[in-house]
Amino acid sequence: MNRVVKKVLFVFSSFLTDLLNRRPYFDKEASRRGNAEDELLHLDLVITECCSLNCRDCSNLMQYYDHPCNLSSDEVINDLRKITGSLKIGELNILGGEPFVNQKVLSAVLAFLTEEKADRVDSINIITNGTIVPGEECINAMKNNPKTHVTLSNYGTLSSHQGELIEVLSCNGIGYTLIDEAFYWLDFGRPVEYAESLEFKKRQYRNCYNRKHCNTLYRGGFYVCPRQAHAIRLGLIPDNKDEYVNLYNPAYRDRDDLRRAVINVVRSKQYITACNYCINGKYIHVPRGVQEKRLHSSDTDV
Ligand code: SF4
Repeated sequence: MNRVVKKVLFVFSSFLTDLLNRRPYFDKEASRRGNAEDELLHLDLVITECCSLNCRDCSNLMQYYDHPCNLSSDEVINDLRKITGSLKIGELNILGGEPFVNQKVLSAVLAFLTEEKADRVDSINIITNGTIVPGEECINAMKNNPKTHVTLSNYGTLSSHQGELIEVLSCNGIGYTLIDEAFYWLDFGRPVEYAESLEFKKRQYRNCYNRKHCNTLYRGGFYVCPRQAHAIRLGLIPDNKDEYVNLYNPAYRDRDDLRRAVINVVRSKQYITACNYCINGKYIHVPRGVQEKRLHSSDTDV
C-alpha cells in the first residue's frame, strides 16, 4: 500500500477511535457490566514483567522495571483458582510483558484452565509482540485448549518472528489475529502527578477503555487497570488499598465476600489515585512500539 493511502487510513482510524473513545454511550457492555453479579466480562492476567521489547510509551509501565521478573506458576495459578472460585470470566487475556518469555508458566496456566477450570473461563487470548516463537510444550498446551486464541500486535520489523509464529500457529490449528501495523497508541503520559481538573479526571475515568476491558489480576491483587497494578508495584504512586482487592485478605471470609469486593471495584464510579498520574483522556496519539533505553522509576519528569 502506498504511503499516501496509509496516511489517509491512519488519519481516518484516529478520527474513528477518538469518536468512539469520547462517547461513553458507545459503551456496549455498560449494562451487562453493571448487572453481572458473578461474572467478569474481561480480565487481564499478568504472567511476567519481562518483555522482549522496550516501548517508550507502554501504558502498562513495563519500561520502568529495573529488575523485571517472571511470575511463578504457583502464584499465578493460586490467584486464578481464587478468583474463578468466586466469579466466571468471559475473556481472559494473558499478557506480560511478553507472555512467551515465560512459556513454562503459560503452559501450566493453560493446562490448569483445560483440566480444572474449563467451565469458568469462556475464552483465552494470549497477547504477544511477535518476537518469540514458543516451543513444543507451549504449542501443545495451546492446542489442547480449544478456547485459546493468539493476538499479535504488529510492530513491523520489531516483530522479528511474526511470520514464523503465524506459520506455527496455522500449522497447529491455533486461531490468531494480527493487529494492523498502522494503528496508533494513545499516550498515557509518564507516571507523574498531573494537575488536571476534577472534571477531566472524572470524564477520563468514565470513558476509560482500560477500566472497562482490562481489569487486572496480578500478584494476588485484582486491580481496576494494569497501569494501577504496576504503578503500585513500582512504588510510583501511593498504595491505596481500598482501590483494589487483595484476594487473600482474611476479611473475605468466603467466596461471596470476595465476589462482592471484586464487583464493587468493577462498578465503582469514583476515579482512582492512578488516574491522577494518567492522561489517556487527552487522546494524544503516539506511534506504536517506539523503542527507548530502559527507563527508571526516577525518570518521571514530564
Ligand atoms: S489510571 Fe485511570 S484513566 Fe488511566 S488507564 Fe487506569 S483507570 Fe484508566
